[in-house]
Amino acid sequence: MERTILHCDLNNFYASVECLYNPSIRDCPVAVCGSQDLRHGIVLAKNYIAKKYNIITGEAIWQAKQKCPNLVVINPNYSLYLRFSKEARDIYSRYTNNIEAFGIDECWIDVSESTKLYGSGEKIANEIREAIKEELGITASIGVSFNKIFAKLGSDLKKPDAVTVISKENYKEIVWKLPVGELLYVGRSTKKKLNNIGIMTIGDLAAVSPTFLRSLLGKWGDTLWAFSNGMDESEVTAVDFQNTIKGIGNSMTTARDLVNNDDVKFTFYVLAESVAERLRKHNFMGKTVQVYIRDNELGCMERQAKLQNPSCISGEIANKAFDIFKKNWSWHKPIRSLGIRTTDLVTADTYTQLCLFEDQNRRCKQEALEQSIDELRKRFGHYAIQRALFLKDKALNANPVEDNIIHPVSFFR
Ligand SMILES: [Mg+2]
Repeated sequence: MERTILHCDLNNFYASVECLYNPSIRDCPVAVCGSQDLRHGIVLAKNYIAKKYNIITGEAIWQAKQKCPNLVVINPNYSLYLRFSKEARDIYSRYTNNIEAFGIDECWIDVSESTKLYGSGEKIANEIREAIKEELGITASIGVSFNKIFAKLGSDLKKPDAVTVISKENYKEIVWKLPVGELLYVGRSTKKKLNNIGIMTIGDLAAVSPTFLRSLLGKWGDTLWAFSNGMDESEVTAVDFQNTIKGIGNSMTTARDLVNNDDVKFTFYVLAESVAERLRKHNFMGKTVQVYIRDNELGCMERQAKLQNPSCISGEIANKAFDIFKKNWSWHKPIRSLGIRTTDLVTADTYTQLCLFEDQNRRCKQEALEQSIDELRKRFGHYAIQRALFLKDKALNANPVEDNIIHPVSFFR
């Protein structure tokens, strides 16, 4: 059976959401940028007006401002973007539950089984496009095709607020004339290799023999050749963007070996603070705490336990980590490095089963306190405010706080 797959891309996603919330900047060039005081001061997203100034995602803020001195620079608000991402997903799920997230602002949607009920892929795509505009106030461009690769290509062809259909009948006309670099997974170096031997368009790629491509690119050559000919059989697998975030963690190799429980408790507090800060930043709470211990002869151990309540409070995470540690470590050797990771993430607004024997009021206050600390640190730097405990051993507290954004976070790297 021929499949019907949509690829939906929310246009200029971060910048569109910001403009929606702040109408006064709608007619200005706007760029959402990583924090200016850290080394992450780069353009993450921009609106169409900023695009006209040739501002490029990934360039430094100062470069962007040289091209456009009145550029409005905005710090990202990930929890807001996550909410819009989820609401867009709710719209897709009116048609099917076969939805695969590709980043925060893109999804594949397999509506093959839904066309009998809701009409053609093009009709469904137009309904989704309208619903996103009406209900969310932002726009989407959608590609409709018989495979994922061409659906993705289609969503790039007409922007914003548009639908492009690439069918078995028209794909040669539409797809084959496009530059080969437009094909998903053709990166810069592959593109260069292909261009060097005269393969400039996707059509050129489709026309050469797969054996020849294999000699040039290895097994990957076969795959790309198949893609260019519309032979992508890969399925849309139900993946939620949030589920792709495995956890938020941090680890450190300490300035000196840890030799007693006090050292370990101290280090867990340092780690838990940066983990909790990142959880709050992305509007998450963790249900499970994992602990990683490496001794000075490089032997490793990992253990985990559930928290009583989902949490983004550093004290709760540190104490749980310390509990796990005490139950599992017998001090046969000094410790070289420690890590904490929170997993089973839920969004901070998830309903929680309150425990009768715990003081929820105290927890709320603790969370509010930590949020105020986040604010202070944002304004005055990480070391502006510290636990008194940390003054005891400055060497152990030399912990670079990472500004990891939402991506599958690989632990202990
Ligand atoms: Mg987008």
